[in-house]
Amino acid sequence: MATAVTHYTSYKARPFTREQREKTTILFGGLTWKHERLVQGVFNNLNYNARPLPNITRADLDAGKELIDTGACCPTIFTTGSLVNFLKSEVAVNGKQKTLDDYVFLTAGACGPCRFGQYHESYEMALDGMGLKDFRLFLLAQDQLDQAPEKGGGLEINMPLSLGIVWAILVGDILTDMEYLTRPYEVTPGQTDQVMKESADYLFEVFQNRPVRSNKYGMLAWHFMSSYFADALRVVRKKFDAIEVDRLQVKPKVKITGEFWLQTHEGDGNYNIKRWLESEGSEVMPPPVAVWLGYLLHTPLWRLSAKPNIDRKIRMKMAMIRGLEKLYVGTYNRFRKALGNVPHELPDQEELKELASPFFHHELRGGEGHMLIGKALHAHLHKHANMTCELSPYSCMPNTMSQGAMANVLGRHPDLLYAPIEIKGDAEVHALSRCQMILTEAKKRSQAEFVEAMAKTGLTLERIRQIEEKHPKVKKATYRVPHHGYASTAANYALHLASL
Ligand code: SF4
Repeated sequence: MATAVTHYTSYKARPFTREQREKTTILFGGLTWKHERLVQGVFNNLNYNARPLPNITRADLDAGKELIDTGACCPTIFTTGSLVNFLKSEVAVNGKQKTLDDYVFLTAGACGPCRFGQYHESYEMALDGMGLKDFRLFLLAQDQLDQAPEKGGGLEINMPLSLGIVWAILVGDILTDMEYLTRPYEVTPGQTDQVMKESADYLFEVFQNRPVRSNKYGMLAWHFMSSYFADALRVVRKKFDAIEVDRLQVKPKVKITGEFWLQTHEGDGNYNIKRWLESEGSEVMPPPVAVWLGYLLHTPLWRLSAKPNIDRKIRMKMAMIRGLEKLYVGTYNRFRKALGNVPHELPDQEELKELASPFFHHELRGGEGHMLIGKALHAHLHKHANMTCELSPYSCMPNTMSQGAMANVLGRHPDLLYAPIEIKGDAEVHALSRCQMILTEAKKRSQAEFVEAMAKTGLTLERIRQIEEKHPKVKKATYRVPHHGYASTAANYALHLASL
């Protein structure tokens, strides 16, 4: 007897209608709390109710493991578990139907060799397992600013929304950079965190009140030309001005690289490693999300320039991408300038490619691809960091490839201090102790740099402190210390003070 076959059908979200918009909340996540707060402002600006999912916890790993395939990479497990736990708690309080009606989830998506292209399938599998198959998920394609309205018209992924999210990411990056440059040196413990909270709340309002234009090209032009966000960052600068720092504390500088989600995340998902590094006496260089967006913007140029016939149409397209790229980097630099040029510059995409090219081909996509190698070398060769801590997810194929290439990099650059940390979510002691071993060496290097810099100044520490007292502005968090060829802040600062 023939058995009935149930064919696989891909997930199709129930419609989210325009009329449901007022009563529905859009859930999202995957960035830091600062970025998410600003993105929430963007949603509110366009009359959506939105809220970020609670920050990832260890319990999310367990929930994710229960419901999706066991070979999934750890970011997929954590983020799926986070949605699962949120929905479970809502169902427990409000019941299933109300949860299905009250929320939709928006997540970034893409296609490519890594699981990022399949996140939504993991979410679907988990929802099915929870008996919430009717829950609505929508994808924000990371390479399309202007998508067709989602079924029902309740959510329009259009230029005002996408531009708002991109600008929220840029501003969130600048703010995060200020945080990590300041907190390790703050004189009053907790002041940076307080200013960060005030600044994020203030910028939330700024995004919430952003002027919106009906013409999408007008909207694009306004974002590039207007001083609206730079002015807001000047207000934030005043808040940071109030923080006194002591940059003569010798601390190794640790650059964070690795898989996109793990390196960006701040919480249990990566053992809170950035805070842990700070508690161990380091200064952390967090990875800006803007580098990833810059990569997405730049890579079409490589594909176009590799075409056998470069005709006028292709040349025009390339010129347009270059122009957009200039505007993008220029915008980021305007934001940096509003904060006294203290936040770090974005690395040049061509330079990252060139640095990585002997070890990893730039067309090998997935994960961070060649950027993982390019960034480690960039920080090392330009003396921007004493050490690189690379966060590698358990069960991540693209990252495993990049990490494998790093073995060759280390063979050619044996003095590059590199700590590849595999993150499974449940092996914290192992991961942190591995990082600590390399950190011990980085501490020695930062101490040696300081001794050498002090010798160059020919001054005593007491005299350097006197110079510092004479120039109170140098003790502000917003004072820019020029790079004098050392990775650690204290060494550059000592040389700078000697030159005043
Ligand atoms: S890069 Fe690796 S960890 Fe990140 S989504 Fe892709 S497969 Fe998962």
